[in-house]
Amino acid sequence: MAVSVEGLASTIKGRVVEPSGADYDESRALYNAMIDKRPAAIAYCTDETDVAAALRYGIEHGLRIAVRGGGHNGAGLGSVDDGLVIDLSAMNAIEVDAPAKMARVGGGALLKDLLWATHEQGLTVPVGIIGTTGVGGLTLGGGIGHLTRAFGLTIDNLAAATVVLADGSIVQTDSEREPDLFWAIRGGGGNFGIVTSFSFRCHPLTTVLAGPVLYDMDDTADLLAWYRDFLPAAPDELGGFFAFLSIPPAPPFPEELHLRKVCGVAWTQAGEEESEALREARSFGKPLLDGVAPVPLPGWNTAFDELYGPGDQWYWRGEFVREVPDEAIAVHAEYGPAMPTWKSTMHLYAIDGAASRVGNDEMAWSYRDAIWAPVFAGVDPDPGNAGALRDWVRGYSDAIRPYGMGGGYVNFHMDEPDRVRGMYGANYDRLARIKTQYDPDNVFNVNQNIAPAA
Ligand SMILES: Cc1cc2nc3c(=O)[nH]c(=O)nc-3n(C[C@H](O)[C@H](O)[C@H](O)COP(=O)(O)OP(=O)(O)OC[C@H]3O[C@@H](n4cnc5c(N)ncnc54)[C@H](O)[C@@H]3O)c2cc1C
Repeated sequence: MAVSVEGLASTIKGRVVEPSGADYDESRALYNAMIDKRPAAIAYCTDETDVAAALRYGIEHGLRIAVRGGGHNGAGLGSVDDGLVIDLSAMNAIEVDAPAKMARVGGGALLKDLLWATHEQGLTVPVGIIGTTGVGGLTLGGGIGHLTRAFGLTIDNLAAATVVLADGSIVQTDSEREPDLFWAIRGGGGNFGIVTSFSFRCHPLTTVLAGPVLYDMDDTADLLAWYRDFLPAAPDELGGFFAFLSIPPAPPFPEELHLRKVCGVAWTQAGEEESEALREARSFGKPLLDGVAPVPLPGWNTAFDELYGPGDQWYWRGEFVREVPDEAIAVHAEYGPAMPTWKSTMHLYAIDGAASRVGNDEMAWSYRDAIWAPVFAGVDPDPGNAGALRDWVRGYSDAIRPYGMGGGYVNFHMDEPDRVRGMYGANYDRLARIKTQYDPDNVFNVNQNIAPAA
């Protein structure tokens, strides 16, 4: 029987889409087509009072609440069957205060909105590598990207936030106001409230020297052994993630390389002048292709948006690792060439440098002593390949687990409840206590959920 949402449309200023609406299917679609959820209603909120009103309506009517930022979550945690989706996509305004080097960002903005708005003022905030990802989900989970070694995680640059709490009240939080809440939202995901606005500290940077340097798959062991020793010793300004990928069948990649499975490193140097370290990196081995060039940062950060558009099947898992021993390299060399489809990939993100100079207990993110965050992503448009994507990701991540730290990044997971504790690591118990303080009834439970402490 359909769940009634009578009266919701007149409760908020924004649009409400119900199952009877002509655009319901379009509106409920998530980035990951492997997830198919049918909410009772989608409320397109226009401001924080709308968010608070929609939330109150949902609670009073016994609806489960989901919050949707960019809708990119692998597990589809921006939506919920038979519940209320509070959609923030209309709340995407960005205000940049250039003299103060600050950006105020709506809770539903996308990374590309933030990247271009700050770029126009000669500034940037370190975020993820695909422009269509939501600032909301990415930031609350942590935020890994091209500039993590140079400027830290996205949360390391968060100065303040406006949050709608589980009781519908609206609070400002920073290191002085509601400090426990501020601690918890920097890595604790969407467990503590709905963030309607983020204030970020910005860095002066417009152009980076960036691009992939790609090698034959047979070079995997040599490249990975060199990379694991080289990068942690390199200056913070140089970032680069090791990857397995298939060369996309499109320009600017040479046709003779299209769809060839390769290994490589996607380099990003914060600044235009080629450093000694980057020169040394580019001279390693015999690359098939060296695409490093000066590029406006938002251009590099959106370069793969088209390739990874919405509607593909995705299966994800992540780990944190401190070392990549030879035995782990052998595992990578086995699973990399076995990528099940050409869009499938493995990225080994470097999360040391600036990100490692924050203490494990300074905010919710508890893996500051990790050097790498591998992500295993099975991707393909064909639903018939879903099983193959899942099997490869699970097999690969299970085989790497013995070399890991017992957890993985909250934003790189499907819905696997037995993995949740590991995502928050040593900070789980403190997060559960703060959850009791701010959301004792677990209103915000459509996420990698932290149960309130008893
Ligand atoms: C193609 C692709 C590339 C990616 N690249 C990176 C990367 O480079 N680095 C990285 O760190 N991650 C990356 N991710 C992972 C990404 O961080 C997560 O998928 C994240 O959950 C996406 O956030 P979203 O707002 O788009 O998602 P949504 O599905 O809208 O939301 C995800 C979760 O966050 C909550 N949420 C979202 N916004 C808010 C808010 N304003 N207030 C409260 N809760 C909120 C939701 O309730 C949900 O639980 C990538 C994902 C994809 C699909």
